[in-house]
Amino acid sequence: MQETAKPKGLAKIWREIKRPFRRLYRKNRKSEWALKVGCDKIRCVEIEIFSYCNRKCWFCPNSFVDRHSKNILMDENLYLRILNDLRSINHDKMISYSRYNEPLAHKDIFIKRLMQARELLPNAVLHTNTNGDYLTREYLDELYAAGLRSMNIQCYLSEGESFDIGKIKASIAKTAERLNLDFNVTCNSDQLHQVSFSHKDMQLSMYARDFNVNGNNRGGTLKTIRGRTRHAPCFIPFVDIYIDYNGNVMPCCNFRSDVPEHKSFIIGNANNTSVLEIFNSAKLLKLRKILRNNNIELYPCNECNFAT
Ligand code: SF4
Ligand code: SF4
Repeated sequence: MQETAKPKGLAKIWREIKRPFRRLYRKNRKSEWALKVGCDKIRCVEIEIFSYCNRKCWFCPNSFVDRHSKNILMDENLYLRILNDLRSINHDKMISYSRYNEPLAHKDIFIKRLMQARELLPNAVLHTNTNGDYLTREYLDELYAAGLRSMNIQCYLSEGESFDIGKIKASIAKTAERLNLDFNVTCNSDQLHQVSFSHKDMQLSMYARDFNVNGNNRGGTLKTIRGRTRHAPCFIPFVDIYIDYNGNVMPCCNFRSDVPEHKSFIIGNANNTSVLEIFNSAKLLKLRKILRNNNIELYPCNECNFAT
């Protein structure tokens, strides 16, 4: 049975993921982070198993990138190859299924991909974010049976809508009723409200964030969210791998290969190179060298507030 951490506020979550990372680089001169990272340190692999999302949220590049008119599946052989690569290093941390798609939109595909991951990576924590539109109690039980052990349900506000705690609580209560689950509040601040549902050994949370305050401009692509000067290194490409439905590997969740401005940030393609090789490729090492500085000069990382 997989033990997973209880949901916490975002700041606490970031502190927790940074801790092992700092330990990893403690020995390095002047606290500089090593550019090469052992594959056993990979914390999360995010895989976009298909392209489709049913929404066009104002704080997401899907508001101008077409992810709605068709659904392009990640090639099944590619998916299995990625899992087998991770199996070769006994990956036992997180596999996440949410990028710029809505993973629950295609139940048959999602359940099948979860079961394949469960079989090949029995100790990995299978996780997803969801907008919750497709979620029912029956679906939740099927996801659990297929191996999903961690899920964040997002409570999204419309553009211009204020962070109205009354509305957020009502939305969470409605979801709890639909899922027939009890919950307790784990964070209640003026920019984040988060609850944890009680469901077996699953880490199941729902939260609303005030994107007007803590949103990310997604690699400079969103004009609706202003960039913020970054004064801290970024450790994300040192520990995570992000794979688009077309096999392109990106340095973090903010970059996507279907946005022209981000093409130069494509690190490699998993169709022709192992993700483990890409994880320490010359291109990623070059980027890590820039990102380990307190004052990052590279755009759009210099105005990114992610994981600070
Ligand atoms: S934020 Fe999520 S639900 Fe909204 S458009 Fe983007 S991927 Fe879809
Ligand atoms: S600084 Fe932001 S955009 Fe740049 S790699 Fe880190 S998370 Fe991604």
